[in-house]
Amino acid sequence: MKWTILGSGGCMVIPKPLCRCRVCREARERGVPYARAGPAAFLHDINLLIDTPAEIVSLLNRSSVDRVDYLTFTHLDPDHVEGLRVVEQIALDFRTWRAYPEKQVRLLLPQQLSKDIREIRSRYGSLIDFYRESGFIRLTLFQDDVQIGDVRITAIPVDRGSQPAFVYAFEKSGRRVVKDSLQHQALPGASR
Ligand SMILES: [Zn+2]
Repeated sequence: MKWTILGSGGCMVIPKPLCRCRVCREARERGVPYARAGPAAFLHDINLLIDTPAEIVSLLNRSSVDRVDYLTFTHLDPDHVEGLRVVEQIALDFRTWRAYPEKQVRLLLPQQLSKDIREIRSRYGSLIDFYRESGFIRLTLFQDDVQIGDVRITAIPVDRGSQPAFVYAFEKSGRRVVKDSLQHQALPGASR
């Protein structure tokens, strides 16, 4: 499996805006990988984006990713979903204000997140409803696991107290990679 860790800074960006500490000054001077953004990862094998922090448009643009077919979320805290509008940036056809059909993103979501995802709103209402109506997103809910091409994705619920959150296991050709909500990567066999 080929992975790109797009952002590994957790819920904070480095450099922090306005901060003049040594770490932030170094990150400003030396750039990536000292400069780190919010949580996001990409699995090239199936063009799957995991999480959309506020910086996701810039993270994608500085990466080698040229296509997003699938999107999923580990959980729905703001630092993981603030950049959801990236699906509109990717798919919007200005001539029709609808999606280019071939640029639609399929959102793979554990059943347990199906109610909460609708709570992500703009002043016009639920973002996900709007994105589905406009064709930017197609929603696929799954229970426990889902097979995409030759990759099997298993959603493992973890206890975060107030809300459902997931660790994902990705399996392909006998190799397994586990991702948690900070985009840490566990178990050997992963390439980045
Ligand atoms: Zn700092």
